[in-house]
Amino acid sequence: MTTTSPAAPFAGLAFDHTYARDLAGASVPVRAAVAPAPRLVRVNRALAEELGLDADALASDAGVRVLAGTDVPPGAQPVALAYAGHQFGGFSPQLGDGRALLLGELLDRRGRRVDLHLKGSGRTPFARGGDGKATLGPVLREYLMGEAMAALGIPTTRALAAVTTGEQVWRERPLPGAVLARVASSHLRVGTFEFFAARDDRAALARLVDYAIARHDPALRDHPRKALALLAAVGERQARLVARWMLVGFIHGVMNTDNVTISGETIDYGPCAFMDAYDPATVYSSIDRDGRYAYGNQPRIAQWNLARLGEALLTLIHDDLETAAADATEVVRGFAATYQAHWLAGLRAKLGLPGPLADGDAALGDDFLALLAADGVDFTLGFRALGPAATGDVAALDELFPTAAAYQPWLERWRARLGSAATAATAAAMAQVNPAFIARNHRVEDALAAAVERNDFRPFDTLLGILARPFDDQPAHAAQMAPPPRAQQRTHRTFCGT
Ligand code: AMP
Ligand code: MG
Repeated sequence: MTTTSPAAPFAGLAFDHTYARDLAGASVPVRAAVAPAPRLVRVNRALAEELGLDADALASDAGVRVLAGTDVPPGAQPVALAYAGHQFGGFSPQLGDGRALLLGELLDRRGRRVDLHLKGSGRTPFARGGDGKATLGPVLREYLMGEAMAALGIPTTRALAAVTTGEQVWRERPLPGAVLARVASSHLRVGTFEFFAARDDRAALARLVDYAIARHDPALRDHPRKALALLAAVGERQARLVARWMLVGFIHGVMNTDNVTISGETIDYGPCAFMDAYDPATVYSSIDRDGRYAYGNQPRIAQWNLARLGEALLTLIHDDLETAAADATEVVRGFAATYQAHWLAGLRAKLGLPGPLADGDAALGDDFLALLAADGVDFTLGFRALGPAATGDVAALDELFPTAAAYQPWLERWRARLGSAATAATAAAMAQVNPAFIARNHRVEDALAAAVERNDFRPFDTLLGILARPFDDQPAHAAQMAPPPRAQQRTHRTFCGT
């Protein structure tokens, strides 16, 4: 039986609105701008399926108007979220969704609550000087990067769809306007807490803690020290997340506190990129002039951001602020060890090291990284080459290093540590953690340029397909594994997604 009553959810979009309902003052109702001629670019069918949504309905004309924000589907109450944030170290008490809105919350097939959010849907009261719009290139970049991260098994927000609006948006030159429909397990950020802390609104902060716990840490509901426990839980998730980034060479590029989630998902793909040659100082973003958010700085920036959450929560952590500060500091200090444990566990898996942690394991990993750095070897290919080397096939290593002598002493140490684990099974396990394919920046840029400049989506679709299976050898696409020529690597800058 088909239901056609006007109250029936469109395309399976049965919205709830706990955020707007439970958190007064944390959002404002908004209407999206009207897109003159919305057109579907891509709908993420696999994700739609997980969410129990009707991908065909979303791809229809009526669906595309919903995805552009132009039509509000039954049950949706669009709101823009308020937040604050430390941007490049400086505090802005009033940021918020300036060009985005939350349509509402959905329950996925497994009953998990997610936000459905439109980015590029027009000005909101938080827009300040901005036009509220997004352009096709950055929308496709976020789509591609989010899907690449999801396929790598890294927590992330995801693209449900991308549409163009039919409008030209001015960014130094006219570009196609676009809207990204994004799904997140929530849009709570460190900056959401900073928003209320900056206003000394302790009651709202307490509600926010309860709300965050309900969504992300239900086991902490009756914890005697909820705010402190939430801080620790966020620290744990962020430590794990950033370790996962580091293990695949991902550089977020704008780790401002408004881009740091409470859920532990990667969010707000702007000038992000994957590192080619291993170098901790690698920066892609054109606006990150001092390298604050360089690859190698990410763990300590994550800890710095956690400290900002601790500060925002201080009045709820303890009535005595000195005690509160001591307790928060202890959690924030603990981040370093938690991060290190996640990083080391991941690094050991990348090296195929068996059994419990041995004394020399960390040094073995560090020394391999030092070899990559010394010869400017590609991070991803360097680790991928170790799988076959576990069983004696060093052809891939030979292609990466100038001479076998460069890696030979390390290789012998490593194989001695592997011992009886130097097997095909170990090599296969390594291939499941050392991707063959990452979203290489030069490929991403080529794909976006083809789409935006020539309306040719073939490179985008090819790349998206390859990145959906990052751990598989895909011989037909072997050329896509390669980094760009060395001289080109750092000249490819990335720009903020506005
Ligand atoms: P982002 O760098 O995308 O995380 O954005 C930082 C802040 O700037 C957020 O509050 C955004 O909503 C806002 N913002 C970015 N681009 C625009 C735009 N084109 N119009 C209005 N606000 C924007
Ligand atoms: Mg942001």
